Amino acid sequence: MKETEKKQRHQARQQKLKETVDQKIALANKEQGIFLILTGNGKGKTTAGFGTALRCVGHGQSAAVVQFIKGQWPCGERNVLEKLGVRFHVMATGFTWNTQDKELDTAAAILAWQEAKEMLQDPTIDLVLLDELTYMLSYHYLDPTEVANAISNRPPMQHVIVTGRACHRALLDIADTISEVKDQKHAFNDGIKASIGFDY
Ligand code: ATP
Ligand code: MG
Repeated sequence: MKETEKKQRHQARQQKLKETVDQKIALANKEQGIFLILTGNGKGKTTAGFGTALRCVGHGQSAAVVQFIKGQWPCGERNVLEKLGVRFHVMATGFTWNTQDKELDTAAAILAWQEAKEMLQDPTIDLVLLDELTYMLSYHYLDPTEVANAISNRPPMQHVIVTGRACHRALLDIADTISEVKDQKHAFNDGIKASIGFDY
């Protein structure tokens, strides 16, 4: 095939692709808040949630965060985002991977959920990040229908992000976007320690 013919074919293909994409862009004209779920067993769910919160704050919008698992380590993103006026609630006592006290865990989950519910009723908050919320449903600390209803009834322009593995069907059913982060490899399985500034 001659070079000019190759070039022409390439141009025709690109033109066709452009037309398809333009058509899709023209059809996507609804404006509303998105409910995004970041799930799956791979690494990157929480960081993607915080990345979106940062994106939102970077445009002068307002974000709020509830972390449903009390981490063993400080949270690097919190150190930055709180300084930028992002409201944070971290489950103060109770649920960590280590606790076995169901009553204490449930009380902590309910307290954090109260904060989340307030955020989900506040139209001045553009984005609510509910980090690791999925576990609260897996462990039956919160009622899936109540959580799904609060998300469905939020202000129409508000975005919500839920992260965590094994997300409950009640939330998957009402989500607009679901991304599953697949685990192909993880350094931890080769005995490499989680490190500050990279894992937390
Ligand atoms: P990150 O906070 O890095 O975005 P994540 O939110 O996707 O990770 P979680 O399931 O919340 O992942 O796990 C939190 C911690 O566990 C992180 O320190 C992360 O590096 C680690 N982790 C994530 N995925 C895996 C995996 N597949 N195997 C082992 N450890 C993992
Ligand atoms: Mg996470």
